[in-house]
Amino acid sequence: MGSSRVAVRARIAAVLGASAFIAITLSAFALYLNNLEWRQTETIVDAFEVANEADVLAMDVEKTVAQVMSVMVAEDAQAARDRSVALQEDLQEVAQRRNALLSRVGERMSPAEKTQLSLRIDEFIAYQTDTARLCLQVSPQAAIIQANDDATVRNRRKMLVDVQQLGRDMRARVEITRGAAAFGRKVRLAMLQVLPASTLIIGALVGVALFRRSKANLQKRRYDVALNNMPLGVGMANAQGVLTVVNDRLATMFDIALELSGCTVRQLAEEIAAAARLDGEARVAFLRTFQSLASGSSSASFVAALGARHFEFRCHRMDAGGSLIVIDDVTAARRAAQDIERMALFDSLTGLSNRVRFRERLALTMEESRARNLSFSLLYLDLNAFKLVNDTLGHPTGDKLLCEVARRLTTNFRDADLVARLGGDEFMVVLAPAAKPHDLDAICARLIEMVSAPFSIEGHEICVGASVGTASFPGDVATAEEMVNGADLALYRAKALGRSSFRHFDASMRAEAMLKREMETELRAALANDELELYYQPIVDIRSNRINTFEALLRWRHPTRGQVSPDVFIPLAEETGLIVEIGEWALERACRDAALWPAEIRVAVNFSSIQFRRCDVVALVARALATTGLSAHRLEVEITETVLIRDAEATCAIFEQLRGLGVRLSLDDFGSGYSSLSYLNMFKFDKIKIDRAFVQNLNDPNALAVISAVTHLASRLDLTLVVEGVETPEQLAILSGQGVHDVQGFLFAPPMPLAEINRLVKEASRAA
Ligand code: C2E
Ligand code: MG
Ligand code: MG
Repeated sequence: MGSSRVAVRARIAAVLGASAFIAITLSAFALYLNNLEWRQTETIVDAFEVANEADVLAMDVEKTVAQVMSVMVAEDAQAARDRSVALQEDLQEVAQRRNALLSRVGERMSPAEKTQLSLRIDEFIAYQTDTARLCLQVSPQAAIIQANDDATVRNRRKMLVDVQQLGRDMRARVEITRGAAAFGRKVRLAMLQVLPASTLIIGALVGVALFRRSKANLQKRRYDVALNNMPLGVGMANAQGVLTVVNDRLATMFDIALELSGCTVRQLAEEIAAAARLDGEARVAFLRTFQSLASGSSSASFVAALGARHFEFRCHRMDAGGSLIVIDDVTAARRAAQDIERMALFDSLTGLSNRVRFRERLALTMEESRARNLSFSLLYLDLNAFKLVNDTLGHPTGDKLLCEVARRLTTNFRDADLVARLGGDEFMVVLAPAAKPHDLDAICARLIEMVSAPFSIEGHEICVGASVGTASFPGDVATAEEMVNGADLALYRAKALGRSSFRHFDASMRAEAMLKREMETELRAALANDELELYYQPIVDIRSNRINTFEALLRWRHPTRGQVSPDVFIPLAEETGLIVEIGEWALERACRDAALWPAEIRVAVNFSSIQFRRCDVVALVARALATTGLSAHRLEVEITETVLIRDAEATCAIFEQLRGLGVRLSLDDFGSGYSSLSYLNMFKFDKIKIDRAFVQNLNDPNALAVISAVTHLASRLDLTLVVEGVETPEQLAILSGQGVHDVQGFLFAPPMPLAEINRLVKEASRAA
């Protein structure tokens, strides 16, 4: 507000100042005209006098001419002489008049004209004086002859003409000066009459002009501020390609020192190329693209990389002709787009290609191979025991291990090959297409050896092996999808075969996978269709020969496939998560059955590690006990070591709660896995079940030594020890010699259906 009031005051002051200035100027002009009129009047008077003088001279001359005539026509000689005397006197007067005239003529005649006039008058006077003198001294006749002499007559006529002409000139000059003076007077009068009005009008006009100018200036200033503070470089070129408007940003953007306004668009392109240090091909290409953009008939744009930066050049055609060139530094936007692209296509942990990029590249490689009749292979690699590293050494160490594996892979494969991480510990390698098939055996062996070499991470020496599955195009598969599935199936097979193996895809794997998928669907229906059943196998105390526990073992009566082994469907149920539902069913069923058995017989139920991960085992057990009425101390929960290698603290807490319910805990298949005696210290168990593999190798002194050691440990820790898989009396004898009391195996009874178990129980109680 304040600034606009100041601006209005400044404008009023400017208008008043301009009006005063105009009034003074006009007044000065009027004065000048007045002055001029005075001088013109003087000139008129002066010229009048000259004209009069000339007229008088002419009259005097005519008078003397008349007197010469009167001499020539005198009635007698005396009269002629008298007239000659008068003539002489008149001629003297003419001579005086000549002097007066010439002095008055002043600057009005040039010196040459003056000389000529004076000579002519003098000649006239001389001729006439001669005539008078001849008349007086010789005779009137001689004077007449002289007067009629041709030269005298000519001179006389000329002189008269000259003098009369002078008079006319002077009069004409008087007329002109009088006209000029009259005009000047009119102007002056007009000016004096219109001075106030004109001053006001002109002042107003000047005011409006000033106001407009200040408004235009303000607009221009705003426009300049906007133009020069834009993040874009802007240049406006006319129809001839000359830049008429250029903002500061355009020059600073490229560090151009040259004044660009007035330059041609071509010069601008050259300056940019020079500033970006483009040379050779790059320079030529840039100039060509810029020129075609600037000279094109429609609006267009292109992006160019200049040094480390990227610029977008846009050219808009203007309706009035010419073009608007807009340059945008798109480096940051580019970088952001590249980052987004990188994030979308690369694994953030290892920097390897991610699943998306892997899929894209695989499809392209397949296309290329098909088009050029080449073959290529895919390697699917999975680290062994990576979960163990994560669980025991923590995720940050696991992450570093993955990065190290990625580094080894990238340094060991060629640039043309693609190494990708699909997530977790799964890596893919797409081997670049070649005319002949790759030597996959050698490549896989080398790959496994490379990954199996120890890693040194944060002071830990970590050894992880790897399993590899491969699939090749065009031999094994026809599409990228099939290729990934094929390599996956081969990897699955390699893992099943044991650690650090590799397998190449073959068609039988697909058939097997299909079978597995079918069984998966069927297993889902099995529960609802009542196809699952529990068998029970007794655990016998050989000292009393009495059954103290029945282990519940699942059976699947498949309508077409017959009895399906739990070794087949339990892993399937674990993979699909169905084990949660099946396990719950088995627990409740077992508790319900056991509730009807004599109180001294317990029931052992197998639990999968998946159940511990996916559901609240404590709540599950509590519910089963509550609904079936089985006392807690009659239930044994059998778990394998896979449950223990996960989060030890959480597992301990669950065990404590189960024990709190009164339930017994049993460690199954002891010695088959990563068995560590430390587990026995860490987790409180009631029972250990030695894996049947030890029984099968009882002839091996080492196996016997393990059984003996574990027997001692169990008695020291006050644990019940059970040996599984006892099939022969010999085995039983050896085990008994080692102090083993509780055994399970075909020697006593195989797993049996409930009806048989119930009969067995009845018989046993009758016998007792
Ligand atoms: P497991 O818990 O170690 O069960 C003992 C396995 O040894 C049973 O196999 C049993 O039939 C077999 N067996 C017993 N005595 C002998 C013998 O003298 N010689 C030989 N060769 N084998 C003997 P089964 O019933 O086929 O069960 C296999 C595995 O399936 C079980 O091993 C257990 O890990 C799992 N399983 C069975 N039922 C369930 C269940 O309800 N839940 C869960 N999570 N797993 C179950
Ligand atoms: Mg078991
Ligand atoms: Mg077992």
